[in-house]
Amino acid sequence: MTPKTKNKKISAIKGTKDILPQEARKWQRVESVARRIFELYGYREIRTPIFEATEVFEKGTGQTTDIVIKEMYTFTDKGGRSLTLRPEYTPSVVRAIIENRLYLQPQPQRFYFMGPMFRYDKPQKGRYRQFHQIDIEVFGEKDPAIDAEIVEMAARLFKELNVVDVKLLVNSVGCRKCRPPYLEALRRKASEYSGQLCADCQRKIVTNPLRIFDCKVELCNEISRGFPNIIDYLCPDCKEHFSRFCSHLDLYGIKYTIEPRLVRGLDYYTKTTFEFVSSKLGAQDAVLGGGRYDDMMKAFGGPEICGIGFAMGLERFISVVPFEEEKEDFLYLAHMGDKAKKTGMELARFLRQNGIECLIEYKERSLKNQISRANKLGAKWVLIVGEEEVERGRYQLKNMDTGLQEDITKEEMPGILLA
Ligand code: AMP
Repeated sequence: MTPKTKNKKISAIKGTKDILPQEARKWQRVESVARRIFELYGYREIRTPIFEATEVFEKGTGQTTDIVIKEMYTFTDKGGRSLTLRPEYTPSVVRAIIENRLYLQPQPQRFYFMGPMFRYDKPQKGRYRQFHQIDIEVFGEKDPAIDAEIVEMAARLFKELNVVDVKLLVNSVGCRKCRPPYLEALRRKASEYSGQLCADCQRKIVTNPLRIFDCKVELCNEISRGFPNIIDYLCPDCKEHFSRFCSHLDLYGIKYTIEPRLVRGLDYYTKTTFEFVSSKLGAQDAVLGGGRYDDMMKAFGGPEICGIGFAMGLERFISVVPFEEEKEDFLYLAHMGDKAKKTGMELARFLRQNGIECLIEYKERSLKNQISRANKLGAKWVLIVGEEEVERGRYQLKNMDTGLQEDITKEEMPGILLA
């Protein structure tokens, strides 16, 4: 330890956050609702490693994306391999499917996943360097009905958690056939403004002009508003897919706005893209984004199987969920004296075995002190275990809401406490 670092306060890395117990409860709630809904739609959980060979993202996310160019946490391990902390999930899933030959199983296949992602971006409200996503992917279904189904599933999640004030934006980014002529038109138009665009966007004119729409510089944004719309360049197949996708959304009664600039920051999208934005979020307003990626599996050396999915940012989502305050529902076991402590420990085990949340503390305290602790911690019940109670085999159960006290046996406890 150098003298300089000796007294330096140790703190969390910039752009990362601790999720403290009270906050973690909200995360658990959202995760459990999401799991239940996804399973209802036939999704199954998949978990892949947090880091991958760097090329997984270079190939998947795309060489011309801001993520790959600027935002990856890439490092060389002791064996000299280039590894990257995953900045997004889809390439990892595609890699896992090919490696585990899951594509041999009947399709379509539906997966979900929850976990941390890492991007070296400038931290601000709603944008972190370690953030968390809930992600779903479907493989092997070309029908635009699935595009609408995943949007409907996302809408269901919002509804169950009472998230309002969200708006759905949809677009199509075309396919291998119709995108090249569009990119050419975009390149021509962008070149006219080359002098006014930021250095990054000037580079993008050459590498991938579609990525200009991802630029966070206000002037670039303003200029790109006048660029040609991809919707006008779609081939008949993509046009048909998009119109059927929209009519399925109509069928579900889901309102949407067509946003021709919605290309999303990843290179792999084909046809459908969509995003849910919230008016409550400020500058980083995208809560959930997704789209179709029909060519990725093939590009990874796997079979030609199409894919579609979405990712929802948990930090942003949780910040717009109106959580009701949850009351604690546990019993505080107060004990006085050595003998009572031992009986209390046994009773605590008995209560927990019966599914009753029970807190017992081991420091010697007076009854008054323990009741005041229980009160402070928000206990719903206090079970008083003193020497006399142990002798009688009957214990005082105090309801902290009503203040009423009952004299009960061990056997009576589950019936009363679980009622
Ligand atoms: P993406 O993977 O870029 O399509 O993003 C999907 C969702 O993840 C977004 O709609 C956000 O909710 C969330 N997200 C993306 N980047 C960040 C970040 N740096 N910090 C927090 N949330 C993020």
